Amino acid sequence: MSPEPLSPRKLHIVIAGGGTAGWCAAAALSQQLMPLADITLVESDALGTIGVGEASIPPMKAFHRLAGVDEQAFMRATHATFKIGIQFEHWTRPGDSYIHSFGRLGKSAWMADFHHVWLHAKALGLDVKLDDYCLELKAALNGKFVLSDAMPLNYAYHLDATAYARFLRDLCAQRGVKRIEGLIEQVQQHADSGHITHLVLENGQAIAGDFFIDCTGFRALLIGNTLKVAYEDWSRWLPANRAVAIQSELNTPPMPYTRSIAREAGWQWHIPLQHRAGNGLVYCSDYLSDEAAQDRLLHHLPGKPTSALRKIPFQTGYRTEQWNKNCLSLGLSSGFLEPLESTSIYLMMIGITRFIKQFPFDGIAQATIDQFNTVSREEFEHIRDFIFLHYYLNERQDSPYWADYRRRPVPESLQHRMDLFRTTGLAFPPSGDLFTVDSWVQVTLGQHLWPTSYHPIGRMVSDEHLIQSLNNYKNTITRQVDEMPHHAEFIAHYCAADEQP
Ligand code: FAD
Repeated sequence: MSPEPLSPRKLHIVIAGGGTAGWCAAAALSQQLMPLADITLVESDALGTIGVGEASIPPMKAFHRLAGVDEQAFMRATHATFKIGIQFEHWTRPGDSYIHSFGRLGKSAWMADFHHVWLHAKALGLDVKLDDYCLELKAALNGKFVLSDAMPLNYAYHLDATAYARFLRDLCAQRGVKRIEGLIEQVQQHADSGHITHLVLENGQAIAGDFFIDCTGFRALLIGNTLKVAYEDWSRWLPANRAVAIQSELNTPPMPYTRSIAREAGWQWHIPLQHRAGNGLVYCSDYLSDEAAQDRLLHHLPGKPTSALRKIPFQTGYRTEQWNKNCLSLGLSSGFLEPLESTSIYLMMIGITRFIKQFPFDGIAQATIDQFNTVSREEFEHIRDFIFLHYYLNERQDSPYWADYRRRPVPESLQHRMDLFRTTGLAFPPSGDLFTVDSWVQVTLGQHLWPTSYHPIGRMVSDEHLIQSLNNYKNTITRQVDEMPHHAEFIAHYCAADEQP
């Protein structure tokens, strides 16, 4: 079938919604496509944005390069801190703690990943801690951070979500993105093709476009309400359906990691920024009432509250077509997975990036849409499985919330990976998976899924050689971390400087 022709003049892209998704889309599209497209963004000040979504993962840096975002300006404007991992507390058993860092574990050989060597060293009775063989892990534990070619850390950020949207909005204004404030009341479609033609605002203004991006958050005005693309419910795997969120004072210097603290019926996030912390409790209403959730969050708040408490209902799931006709959905309108691994902003950024690569300059081909949607589904499913893994491996005995998780049906794709790891120690991420072997190993071992066997690579060298090379590696990492400044110190220096040190 030949592509549905778009107009030959400059394309007009209309972005509906100005939260993180809307402004990220506008920033990337304006930086990459402005000579070929006009961009208009419509947002409603009265409705505002969701105001959460403050922890990110390393691919955000590449997205910022693509969107022409200067790191220091971004960090100053959003009071951002650096993030090199997530600390999971009490997830397997009360009292447990491990860090899922963004780093590589040890040195891997082509034949086998480092954890096989490490497992062999443990089997020999050596006192080896996984934390000692990963720069990011060790730096996180010690509250250290630096940007240095000699000690390259794989990092992301914690950021103020409201300030981030404002910062991107100003950047986009300088590039000529048109912003319209107003409430979208109607979405009009072409009578035959069903393509979206106009957004109509409360004041009657009609905004025509060639292509529309739905960034209206959970409302999903275009992709859901208008185009009727179905939302696939994934709550049989991830039943949490509520969050309460509040900001608080920081009582200690910000650490370079997000905290994810398992509670009796849910989990609490703690995201340290330069000037405050973001906190929230994710829970399932079948196990915990809203009142009890609020009490628990306030009870465990590490500093005085500095904002009103917000209640956020959600349903875990996936928009079955992320791209339908002349509409792409990004952000919360495209699906939602709880923020355990800080993946929502990533999914939106990877979606925008892919869209630019597949941009329909010469008309919309169904094959392009299908390709986009196939890859999106795989990305969402891989992340869903990884989040489920954290819950499934819990051994907590303190409440039905956790016990019931161990009885939930495991997605087939995940069951295979767990079986393989348990019996052989092999961890092969499926192609296109965001999470590497190192992520898988840190989380599974952190949650006590111990393999009964492993690759014999560690046995191919003498014990002396093995001990010496492990010691050398550990000593290098210890020395490098000793040399790093404290995270808060580095941020103060970096954000004050005009240019990267
Ligand atoms: P929103 O912020 O809701 O923006 C929607 C926009 O659409 C607003 O501008 C609104 O005004 C506009 N709009 C809606 N309807 C209309 C209308 N009729 N007319 C005009 N404008 C309209 N992600 C992470 O990566 N890391 C995290 O740590 C993280 N934590 C989260 C915690 C929770 C509890 C939740 C629910 C989400 C979290 N997320 C996280 C996801 C993250 O918040 C979102 O992916 C991100 O904020 C993008 O949101 P959005 O722009 O799609 O929606």
